[in-house]
Amino acid sequence: MADCCASNDNILLFSCSGGSNVAQIANDAAKALDQLGQGRMYCAVGVASRLPSFIETANAAGKRVAIDGCEVHCLKKGFEAAGVPVDVHVVVTDLGIAKGHHFNYGPDDVALVAGAVGDKLGARPCCSGGGQ
Ligand code: SF4
Repeated sequence: MADCCASNDNILLFSCSGGSNVAQIANDAAKALDQLGQGRMYCAVGVASRLPSFIETANAAGKRVAIDGCEVHCLKKGFEAAGVPVDVHVVVTDLGIAKGHHFNYGPDDVALVAGAVGDKLGARPCCSGGGQ
């Protein structure tokens, strides 16, 4: 089996999931990576809200991936406030996608972000170019 298709439940995937295109691209990228077996998507707000069971689960992961939509870095800051480390941080706007308060985006945008996460994890998702 190729590495990029290997299941890795020890990686937890989080996204900021806010009210903009880039936040929802982050959310869709985390979902896509979960579906590709690159990790398991988990509830970011539970960690950022400092709920003990969520913090315990996040801290027990081998790696924590945080996908923020923009340079405000809500997710990363929430994790810092909760005392949970972030091992891989990807910011959608850093990849050249402009933030807007709309939801007009496509599979190429999601694939770009999922691919950037895969690159940082050392395994580009198998289907990163195909969208879904
Ligand atoms: S990081 Fe940016 S896109 Fe994500 S929730 Fe915060 S302000 Fe919204």
